[in-house]
Amino acid sequence: MEFRDTPDEAAFRTEIRNFIATEQPKDAPRGAADPFAMEGTRAWLKKLADRNWIAPAWPREYGGAGMSVMEQFIFNSELAEARAPRPFGIAVGFAGPTLIVHGTEEQKKKHLPEILSGDVVWCQGYSEPGAGSDLAALQTRAVRDGDDFVVNGQKIWTSGAHWSKWMILLARTDPDAPKHRGITYFIVDMKSPGITVRPLVNMADSHEFNEVFFEDVRIPRTNIIGEENRGWYLAQTTLSFERSNIGSAVGARQTVEDMVTFAKEHVADHMSTLAHNGSLRGELMERYIEAQVATMMSYKIVSMQAKEGVPPGHEASVAKLYGTELNQRIYRTGMKMLGLYGQLDGKSAGPEAPMKGRVKYMYLRAVANTVEGGTSEIQRNIIATRGLGLPRA
Ligand SMILES: Cc1cc2nc3c(=O)[nH]c(=O)nc-3n(C[C@H](O)[C@H](O)[C@H](O)COP(=O)(O)OP(=O)(O)OC[C@H]3O[C@@H](n4cnc5c(N)ncnc54)[C@H](O)[C@@H]3O)c2cc1C
Repeated sequence: MEFRDTPDEAAFRTEIRNFIATEQPKDAPRGAADPFAMEGTRAWLKKLADRNWIAPAWPREYGGAGMSVMEQFIFNSELAEARAPRPFGIAVGFAGPTLIVHGTEEQKKKHLPEILSGDVVWCQGYSEPGAGSDLAALQTRAVRDGDDFVVNGQKIWTSGAHWSKWMILLARTDPDAPKHRGITYFIVDMKSPGITVRPLVNMADSHEFNEVFFEDVRIPRTNIIGEENRGWYLAQTTLSFERSNIGSAVGARQTVEDMVTFAKEHVADHMSTLAHNGSLRGELMERYIEAQVATMMSYKIVSMQAKEGVPPGHEASVAKLYGTELNQRIYRTGMKMLGLYGQLDGKSAGPEAPMKGRVKYMYLRAVANTVEGGTSEIQRNIIATRGLGLPRA
């Protein structure tokens, strides 16, 4: 991997930095549960869309900027460094990329430009009450009826379903086939009659995911991505894109740096335990090194993607596993640093909460990081079998 920018890449980096310096909204929180929580976020996304920068590496013919994977990486890194909201999410991060690889011309022309407007949210209808890690056990049924499929069943943990215009859905179309073979991948209009979205509130007291019920929901046949009954294989492409999310390593490093600054600045007022907690110094140092390791992993993923055109397989699992477990360690260290003050959050203590309550919120929220997108145990299984060639347990 070449770490230095080419002259063109350096020029692009400067262009983005200048753009961010003048246009970045001051009030848009990074990582807000609601993608459009602040008016500033919507205006910022519109400015990115006007420059074709919602997904700079998408093809020009569908409204992208046709940039290289490396330029896209530079773009993501610069936004993350500046703590500017990144247009990631399901639409840009993995539904759109799956459409680019497997969609029909008609589907690409319809959906990609709309995603690139920065104004639509998609959700992912994979998990069910009886099908999470064992996703191929899913039971939501889609039955052919003329030019439509009629869907009945239930999805769960569907992030952002309450904001979404479209869903990528996995449903069983051949109940007699072996379980990995009878699944089809659909695009669903979330306004279709028969869809009910019910909120689920997580332990960080935030409404991010939902239950979604389907009762005789009609989906046109033209909304199948790929071939009927071959959806399982497309679902793997989507999951690789999901797991290779780059940019979060920059966020991990910044959080550790913020914690170090806070620890030093608040020794005297005892809001940081640095003065009397002997192990904290060492822990902060360990987290700092680990954040550097995570950054190197994201470089590896992006250089593989640049060479091979598709996201890597087990390497994405390595990055996902390491990055999400690191996130939990970082916020455990943060809670140790804050001691009793760590219990204060933005809701209960307002602006008095240390680090605006981010440590407490993320300490609770990060628990889910090692579950969403496939649990750590599943990533370990993938790395062991597909990466190291070890036999199944
Ligand atoms: C915040 C969040 C957001 C999510 N968003 C979405 C979404 O938008 N769309 C969507 O479809 N899903 C979503 N999910 C669901 C997520 O993909 C599943 O929760 C996950 O795949 C695990 O499935 P499960 O919850 O059914 O747990 P289970 O599969 O029941 O697992 C229970 C435990 O058993 C372990 N286990 C299971 N099988 C094995 C095995 N073979 N070897 C070793 N250990 C095993 C697991 O690691 C876990 O610890 C989200 C989840 C979270 C937490």
